[in-house]
Amino acid sequence: MYNNFQDYLTQEIQGIKDAGLYKNERIITTPQSAAIKVQGDIEVLNFCANNYLGLADSKVLVEAAKKALDARGYGMSSVRFICGTQDLHKELEAKIARFFGTEDAILYAACFDANGGVFEPLLSEQDAIISDALNHASIIDGVRLCKAQRFRYANADMEDLEKQLIAAKDCRFRLICTDGVFSMDGNVAPVDKIYALAQKYNAMVMVDESHSAGVVGRTGRGTTELYNLAGQVEIITGTLGKAFGGAVGGFTTGKKEIIEMLRQRSRPYLFSNSIPPMIAASGIAMFDLIDKTNELQDKLHSNTEYFVAKMKAAGFDIKPTQSAICAVMLYDAKLSQDFASKLQDEGIYVTGFYYPVVPKGQARIRVQVSAAHTVEHLDKCVNAFTKIGNQLGVLK
Ligand SMILES: *Cc1c(COP(=O)(O)O)cnc(C)c1O
Repeated sequence: MYNNFQDYLTQEIQGIKDAGLYKNERIITTPQSAAIKVQGDIEVLNFCANNYLGLADSKVLVEAAKKALDARGYGMSSVRFICGTQDLHKELEAKIARFFGTEDAILYAACFDANGGVFEPLLSEQDAIISDALNHASIIDGVRLCKAQRFRYANADMEDLEKQLIAAKDCRFRLICTDGVFSMDGNVAPVDKIYALAQKYNAMVMVDESHSAGVVGRTGRGTTELYNLAGQVEIITGTLGKAFGGAVGGFTTGKKEIIEMLRQRSRPYLFSNSIPPMIAASGIAMFDLIDKTNELQDKLHSNTEYFVAKMKAAGFDIKPTQSAICAVMLYDAKLSQDFASKLQDEGIYVTGFYYPVVPKGQARIRVQVSAAHTVEHLDKCVNAFTKIGNQLGVLK
């Protein structure tokens, strides 16, 4: 029986390769950081991690995890509601809610699970989910699992959102959902305008702060800090896998009745293992750290400003960004791949993105700035871009 299926898979995989879409994984042999080594003992500066605050190799977080390993063991071997809840899990949930100015929080194994489990327990056939067209795959999948009617609006297009809100006006409840930062462009969702439209049309708002938490807003509290909406937005989801240490883990935070219902009915929470104690402990240490000092957030903001200004001055076409994502537009798919590969030869590790990850003819290199980068790192990156840009005729 497997033979036919094997042939089928072999052909499909060849198709992926022929289309130039096959993903190869580069192997890192050091901790995740600004400066890393990849297999072959090659040193590169990393500009493509979600390590926005540079905490992925933080001594403070590693120490907190080690201490928890000794004090609370390795794993929980249980879902939360049976016997998978330690004091650490409750403490981390409280820290998350405090950080965002919300009422309560619930942990998941990943933000993919938080988004997968947020819609179905809350909404049904009589309700409407109104979703930004560029929302993350996990939101799209979560919406698919829910029976609510689906409406979609063009990316950050408030005229279109208003149209969809009008189309959904006869539904019982309306929930607008959006990424806080869109990961391919780096633009921030206009959550202020979304919230105003939600008020006008009696809708609720959910923001996925995965790329904005730790990054956007003066103290990194995300889009609700940027727009003075802390505690207003009904639902926030986020990850511990990006700015917040980069290990693993996700959460939903917001109105307390919503969180209470998720604990009763959210399937990825009810039927999946509790996060390990060391992850909860390092999460707690992480919030304590970024609460105590704004140093990392300040550094990230000044690094991003510096980098974007230098790239623009060098003549590159940069998408307008309000985050730590800097999309260097090259438009041509092959050019984006050649450019990225030549940058790696210069010791700069970045990824080129092209269709279908971004629209056709919109190929780009996405640079992600980190608080862990030094000015020397940033200069080295800009210089390498400039060198290759001249070589490949991108800069005139
Ligand atoms: C990365 C990301 C996720 C997934 O987070 P994990 O915790 O890695 O599962 C979800 N939503 C958005 C917008 C993301 O960028």
